[in-house]
Amino acid sequence: MKFNSALETIKTYEAGKPIELVVREYGITKDQIVKLASNENPFGCSPKVKEAVRSIIDNMALYPDDSMVKLKTALSNKYGIEPNELIIGAGSDQVIEFAIHAKVHEGSKVLMNSVTFAMYEIYAKQVGAQILRTASREHKMEEFYALYQEHKPSIVFLCTPNNPTGEGLNAEEMFSFIEKVDNDTLVIVDGAYMEYARFKNPAFAVEPRDLIAKFDNVLFLGTFSKAYGLGGMRVGYGIAQNHIIDALYKVRPPFNITTLSLEAASVALEDEEFVQECIADNFAQMRRYEEFAREKGINVIESYTNFVTLSLPEEKNSSKIAQELLKKGMIVRDLSSYGLNAIRVTIGTRVQNDRFFELTDPLL
Ligand SMILES: *Cc1c(COP(=O)(O)O)cnc(C)c1O
Repeated sequence: MKFNSALETIKTYEAGKPIELVVREYGITKDQIVKLASNENPFGCSPKVKEAVRSIIDNMALYPDDSMVKLKTALSNKYGIEPNELIIGAGSDQVIEFAIHAKVHEGSKVLMNSVTFAMYEIYAKQVGAQILRTASREHKMEEFYALYQEHKPSIVFLCTPNNPTGEGLNAEEMFSFIEKVDNDTLVIVDGAYMEYARFKNPAFAVEPRDLIAKFDNVLFLGTFSKAYGLGGMRVGYGIAQNHIIDALYKVRPPFNITTLSLEAASVALEDEEFVQECIADNFAQMRRYEEFAREKGINVIESYTNFVTLSLPEEKNSSKIAQELLKKGMIVRDLSSYGLNAIRVTIGTRVQNDRFFELTDPLL
């Protein structure tokens, strides 16, 4: 059977290996497995969220509130924006998909960093877009600007802090770049790790309210999957001026967020203290990874996120090391498919991190 020819150049997204798969492949029991591969919060979500979800467990027969009024109100209050400047997706992944489908068509150009979140390319290719990438591993605004001027792309993706490298982008530099972009190019600022950047260094924090007050061509993305510990609930959001949100709504399927997920995300926003404690712990534990890397003579990219990317020396192959770790029940992310000889490790709990150091020490 012939499929859409655009699919021929797409590599299927490889998610962090699920625990269930490792159990089956290596015969390791579930409790021996440590998953540090998908940048989830190792402490999960606030206990208040669990209680709230339990309390509405009988409400599964009816379709969810498609106006999403509770979550939209909570997010509007948090960010100081209007509810009509918001769209909710099944993960911010789905908002990326909406934006591509709303803006891009065959032959459109989409610009992104040389190394960045894989889904931008996958969604863009689905609709036959041409992918443009900068040259440097880190976001360099002058490279973005040169390519922007030459190609006038439909969409520019800025991922800050960037996945899978952890690097952050100075907010002022980013604003000066966007100022030079004309308003038919949609600039998507993916802030999946913004809570971490805001904690570590305010100069790297981007406030969506400031972005959309200033620019009529910017879409900010946030998610509940990382700092808020709700990866399994699939909730993300986009913030932009209303004319952009209106366009995204035209490609949104109805009822795209479940009742339980809407409740979980809304209540998660009521317990900021929990999230801030998790973030503080994240950076305390991250110092141990930096120390470990120093001892081993390994280069670690300065991270503004909840993961570290360890760049390995040439003689240590990242795929092999990830494979060795997997056999022992430690799931990390090999970055060879991104063209890097590196592994990305999500910061876990103290005990999980101890296990990582113990297992990795003899391999490096
Ligand atoms: C995790 C992640 C997302 C989206 O996650 P969802 O679970 O779909 O909300 C988006 N962008 C980046 C860079 C990410 O790392």
